[in-house]
Amino acid sequence: MIFDVLTLFPEMIQEHCKHSILKRALEKGVFSVNTINPRDFTLNKHRKVDDTPYGGGAGMVLMAQPYVDAYESVERCENSVTVMLSPQGEPLNDKIVNELAQYEQIVMLCGHYEGFDERIREIIKPREISLGDFVLTGGELPALCLIDAVSRKIEGTLGKIESADEDSFSNGLIEYPHYTKPREYRGLQVPEVLLNGNHKEINEFRLQQSIERTKIKRPDLYEKYIKTCG
Ligand code: SAM
Repeated sequence: MIFDVLTLFPEMIQEHCKHSILKRALEKGVFSVNTINPRDFTLNKHRKVDDTPYGGGAGMVLMAQPYVDAYESVERCENSVTVMLSPQGEPLNDKIVNELAQYEQIVMLCGHYEGFDERIREIIKPREISLGDFVLTGGELPALCLIDAVSRKIEGTLGKIESADEDSFSNGLIEYPHYTKPREYRGLQVPEVLLNGNHKEINEFRLQQSIERTKIKRPDLYEKYIKTCG
């Protein structure tokens, strides 16, 4: 998997990848992350990438030429997808993460300021993905979220790929509670069933806990689960 990120702030992407699980996976060559800065593709003297909006209004708009040229400089393989990080896109969820993990290359466009000149959308025709119904200052954090979430689904990133299979949303439910040592903390005990080594009972307990939690915390998911599995 190759992640190519078009960003005016490449350090934000590179810095995040220097830590923890992503760092180890990058060192192992499980995937790679490249940054491309549209500022390097400007044709004007001051390397300007934005300008005032036609029609007036606040903020600066990202100009089409540096973004389109930067995008076209990326070598794209056949099995690649282009994603524009945008609050106007489809809200990211586990299903979309799984879909994206099937590609060999994801090219991402991070916006900033007031956003993209509309012709960038018209020319590149990206899949637009949002982190949710709120507005951030730039697309770098959403791009990092996407890299993080997708890379967890790739063999070799996590110690055991199965740990992603048991996480929240993978079976339509949120995950059961976890406990670790000590057995008692401030008078709170680890449930007895987790200590008896009976894996059938443990699995049943965990599924039950998942269902109950989902019913309380995410009634929308619970309704869907009951309809399909109930
Ligand atoms: N004017 C735009 C609008 O209202 O749709 C918002 C522009 S936002 C301030 C600047 C950039 O941050 C966007 O181009 C996008 O790349 C990124 N961004 C902001 N919120 C986002 C979200 N919820 N999901 C994904 N990207 C987001």
